[in-house]
Amino acid sequence: MAKECPVCGTKIIGRADKKFCSDYCRNAFNNQLNKDSKNLIRNINNRLRKNYRILEELNPNEKTKTTKTKLIAKGFDFQHFTSIYTTKTGNIYYFVYDQGYLPLENEFYALVKRNS
Ligand SMILES: [Zn+2]
Repeated sequence: MAKECPVCGTKIIGRADKKFCSDYCRNAFNNQLNKDSKNLIRNINNRLRKNYRILEELNPNEKTKTTKTKLIAKGFDFQHFTSIYTTKTGNIYYFVYDQGYLPLENEFYALVKRNS
């Protein structure tokens, strides 16, 4: 059975490992892939930037406490951070660049700024 080009649906003639009917379709396919991954990266970067701004705004003096409610009200997204730091005592800080947060009891959060 002849394979079909995933871009235009034309039957592919030629070598068995040929994936596209033409260079044009191969390029179109790869460009679309790049576009999708660029969009993904841009969306995640935007979320990280937003999270960073929220932490910066709530923590102007490098150390404070806040609540989950306040973070969520500002649109904070707990799924997006850049690194995790576990202390010797097992506390886990989540960092968005140099702004970190540590979940405390009763939905409180400690906010810290990491000094470089
Ligand atoms: Zn094609």
